[in-house]
Amino acid sequence: MCIFCKIVAKEIPADIVFESIGVLAFNDITPQAPTHVLVIPKWHHETAADLAAMAPATLAELFTVADQIAKTRDLDGYRLAFNTGESAGQSVFHAHLHLLGGRPFAWPPG
Ligand code: AMP
Repeated sequence: MCIFCKIVAKEIPADIVFESIGVLAFNDITPQAPTHVLVIPKWHHETAADLAAMAPATLAELFTVADQIAKTRDLDGYRLAFNTGESAGQSVFHAHLHLLGGRPFAWPPG
């Protein structure tokens, strides 16, 4: 079982900020911004593209949940990111949407 599946199963702890039938959101253990939340499908899909193919409604819910979390925190803007593949920085191969906010962000990203 992957580390995020273990968090979903409550086998390892996480700082959970939202939970629904299909989606879990928790604070990133190594935050890169004042708000850094990971929004994940509860069912295992390696990448965002796999999730889009297999469960498009859940993919849409990830974005809705991220926006709701941003609104509850009064963020005036936020950045969303899916890293896909090691060269893009993916280190956990269970699809997850990064919600980052609370500081300015440069473009292009590093
Ligand atoms: P990525 O590099 O895009 O695959 O993102 C994986 C993210 O998961 C990183 O930002 C890690 O800090 C985060 N992470 C890894 N393990 C945990 C954990 N046990 N609880 C919360 N966040 C984690």
